Amino acid sequence: MKVRIEDNCISCGLCVSICPDVFTMGDQIAEVLVDIVPPDLEGLVQQAANECPVEAIIIE
Ligand code: SF4
Repeated sequence: MKVRIEDNCISCGLCVSICPDVFTMGDQIAEVLVDIVPPDLEGLVQQAANECPVEAIIIE
């Protein structure tokens, strides 16, 4: 699984709260820390994507 953040992120911090091993807050918007999501974190990344208020988390 790969994941990226689109520019419409509003920096609410929810994804970082859900999965800090994958998401971090950058200067402007959230950022992804990994090229490939480790399999044991895929569930949390999916949860973050589902709960992001502006649907800025794109799973590829
Ligand atoms: S949950 Fe969505 S809007 Fe909030 S920081 Fe993460 S990507 Fe940005």
